[in-house]
Amino acid sequence: MSHSLGSPIIHEFKYNDGSPGLVGLYRDSLRVNVGNEVYIYDLEGRPVFLYLDGKLYVRGLSGIWVEKKWVSIRPPRRYSRVLRDKEEYAAILTRSLKVLKRILELDIDSRIGGFISYILDRGVARLEVEERKFREVYKPISILPPDQYLSIVLQPVEGCPYNMCSFCTFYRDRRFRFKSVDEFEKHVEEIKLLVGKGYYMRRKIFFADANALIAPTDLLLKYMGITWKYFDHGIIDGIYSFIDYFHKPKTVEELIQLRRHGLRRVYIGLESGSMEVLSILNKPGPPSESVKLVESLKAADINVGVIILIGAGGREYYNEHVANTVDILNRMPLGKGDILYYSRLKIRPDSAYARLSEEYGITALSQEEMDRQINEINKKLVFHRDKPVIAEYDIDEFVY
Ligand code: SF4
Repeated sequence: MSHSLGSPIIHEFKYNDGSPGLVGLYRDSLRVNVGNEVYIYDLEGRPVFLYLDGKLYVRGLSGIWVEKKWVSIRPPRRYSRVLRDKEEYAAILTRSLKVLKRILELDIDSRIGGFISYILDRGVARLEVEERKFREVYKPISILPPDQYLSIVLQPVEGCPYNMCSFCTFYRDRRFRFKSVDEFEKHVEEIKLLVGKGYYMRRKIFFADANALIAPTDLLLKYMGITWKYFDHGIIDGIYSFIDYFHKPKTVEELIQLRRHGLRRVYIGLESGSMEVLSILNKPGPPSESVKLVESLKAADINVGVIILIGAGGREYYNEHVANTVDILNRMPLGKGDILYYSRLKIRPDSAYARLSEEYGITALSQEEMDRQINEINKKLVFHRDKPVIAEYDIDEFVY
């Protein structure tokens, strides 16, 4: 089923119960509004966002569904959970297909009707085939920055080259390795096929896993060349990735080369500006190296996302964490195009951090104390250029 990228085709209607409805076939998706409900499908006919009964359901390319709901605006509190019960998400899907069937009975533009018929014909079976394919072409995608959930993830590297932070268990299931150029090309080819026209909704490329940019620059340039052979510069706005500041840094000249090949923003898990807090996190420092890295990236005109771990070191290191994190952030040339993320520490009971917390006698912060810590850091930040975006990063909301 092809849908050319022309002007949107929009049709208004009245639903069974008299609620106003609108269906639109856009350049990147099919969108349906019925009363307070919203259904958004990509151009392969896969559900991506459904808003029902005051809850947002997001379906990742992997087939995972995450439910999110605002429970309070001030202080900001959302709850989110992965739907693990197949019957639960099958019910949501059936409900959305029922709405589409009803729209098909209306007198609508034949291109909208044709696309809806295509979605209905694909049915649930095709989604299940794609979920199996996903597991063949990817190692599990463990985490992404929140602004990258709608990217197309490619895995030129697998795992984390360090893999020993006490609070992080994302890559414990795999050894760190680079893919060969041929293996990467096959991987990209398969992902291109899997994503299909879903591509129009996913306009960024993310190089995973952790710190793909540790790869030698020559190899990275080859990975980038292959990426642009399969994905169109006119549709994809650039390449994004994690980077750490404690492996051998790239020179500004190397970073400029990477930017010329499409690198747009890199994400640094600073976590804390305090060396004492970093030692509890078992993360190498010193944090001052992160300032040098951001300076090099900005000199190469690459944007950054800096992640701060709120609650790290608990009550005992609260002031130490705030003062030193503010000091490091204020030394970074952050501005427009950059993002500062606050990620609330979630202590996994089986993590080394849980064990170290006991050893150091650390008391975990409550959500209210974390709110206060975020406010205190925010108040003390000074930006010499434009302000970066400041946002929360809830790892439980991650979906790909
Ligand atoms: S926090 Fe980052 S550097 Fe540390 S183990 Fe996890 S992925 Fe690796």
